[in-house]
Amino acid sequence: MKIAVASGKGGTGKTTVAVNLYHSLNRESSKQALLVDCDVEEPNDVLFFTDSQETEETIVYQEIPSIDASRCTFCRLCAEYCEFNAIVVIPPAGFAEINPNLCHSCGACEVACESEAIWVRDEPIGTRKSFRDEAGNEILEGRLKIGSAMQTMVIRSLKNSLPKEPGIIILDAPPGTSCPVVETLSDADYILLVTEPTPFGLHDLQMMVELVRKLEIPFGVVINKASLGDREIYHYLEKEQAEILGEIPFSKNYASQYARGDLFGATPQEITESHAQIVKKLSEKGLIP
Ligand code: SF4
Ligand code: SF4
Repeated sequence: MKIAVASGKGGTGKTTVAVNLYHSLNRESSKQALLVDCDVEEPNDVLFFTDSQETEETIVYQEIPSIDASRCTFCRLCAEYCEFNAIVVIPPAGFAEINPNLCHSCGACEVACESEAIWVRDEPIGTRKSFRDEAGNEILEGRLKIGSAMQTMVIRSLKNSLPKEPGIIILDAPPGTSCPVVETLSDADYILLVTEPTPFGLHDLQMMVELVRKLEIPFGVVINKASLGDREIYHYLEKEQAEILGEIPFSKNYASQYARGDLFGATPQEITESHAQIVKKLSEKGLIP
């Protein structure tokens, strides 16, 4: 069972919801869950679990093609095959080059080239890491190499490494609605959309609702900082007949705890109850056995 936690923008409390869900399942209800930090540009879930130790690191590679100018006839066939505009060939200048930041490693250019002028190399684009705490609970994270633009490939590699046996997997998605988010959400069984009751929160939630409806994945909404802002988001959700799975009130103390990386210390009672309510609703839906 894969439950993804997503939000249309950063700073809404998506990570807080994801790590609390993991914490509630593993430490309070003993339902073994795996947390997967797919926010590969800035993974930080594991920071909240100070007793976790890194157990494994794997480098993620991308196959990047290059053009051997000594064999190239500058026919431009490869550039015509490339759907991502990653290849520039200028015949009069005898110039042919592939931009690795645009390449999606589809292999079409290699197939197209009749002069065997294209060769492929493995380029490191990031890492996958596993962490385990003393109780054996596991967190996985992907981390994009600085300078690489291939978030989607690191996320795909991370998801391909997930265990196949049944269990609860919590996917902490990157913020936004772009390709890395779609890669994270695409095979989720359920999506928790985290938002806040502000005009920006509403705007980004609308985009997320549109996206998850296109993906045809069931979803529920968690309203963070519920005691702040206005009622517009509630009107919108009512109009869209979207379910509110939980409301987390704003707490200055809890925000300070988050800033210190101490989410499970002296948590205010109303925050603990809000997270318990979310777990209860997910259980009622049969998402948590
Ligand atoms: S592998 Fe695909 S995306 Fe990359 S340069 Fe070749 S055709 Fe373009
Ligand atoms: S298809 Fe091959 S020969 Fe033609 S431009 Fe591309 S690399 Fe050069």
